[in-house]
Amino acid sequence: MKIDTLFLSGPQGSGKGTQARILADKRGYFHWEMGALLRAEAKTETEVGKKIAVLINAGSLVSDVIIKQVLDVKFKTIPKDQTIMFDGFPRNMEQADFLLAFLHEHGRKDFVTMLLDIPKDESLKRLLLRAQVEHRLDDTPETIEKRLYIYEMETLPMLNTLRDKTYFIDIDGRSSIEEVSRLIENALTQLDD
Ligand code: AMP
Repeated sequence: MKIDTLFLSGPQGSGKGTQARILADKRGYFHWEMGALLRAEAKTETEVGKKIAVLINAGSLVSDVIIKQVLDVKFKTIPKDQTIMFDGFPRNMEQADFLLAFLHEHGRKDFVTMLLDIPKDESLKRLLLRAQVEHRLDDTPETIEKRLYIYEMETLPMLNTLRDKTYFIDIDGRSSIEEVSRLIENALTQLDD
């Protein structure tokens, strides 16, 4: 099976950003990191940028209107035959609905979802550690709690619907970066033609 689209998901701190970068390197996938795109936009002094900054810093999701604009603009820049790896998108049911419809309209149909999972206490531990290193404004104990709450209430139910709508792979994200990368590579190799 030739994957044309991979949805990489998992709770905050699961290491999906790191694994996405490894995959982009190894397999030439286009790494669509929604959080990074939004953080870059937030740095601009535009009206939209300011709105995004407020929402990110509060640990809330950015509105679907803005997400759809980012989707429209960014998608056009990606070659048709390049596999897109969405990292942190979709995050809720509405996003999954419009993203899947959009991709279908643009001729993409071989969807794989990969859930990189770690327990909640591990997420908390890793994010608090990252807070000391990266100084992200949204890595305070309150916003971390809020983002994990949104993950449980909105992202997890959405992922459960993707279990039926896409080819679904569960990966245990608790091990080392190298071991998790090996698990991911094994799972994807099974899908290679
Ligand atoms: P992340 O880097 O994936 O942890 O994302 C950081 C922040 O960016 C999130 O807490 C949200 O405020 C925003 N964000 C990232 N992806 C999305 C998305 N798909 N929908 C809405 N907001 C998002």
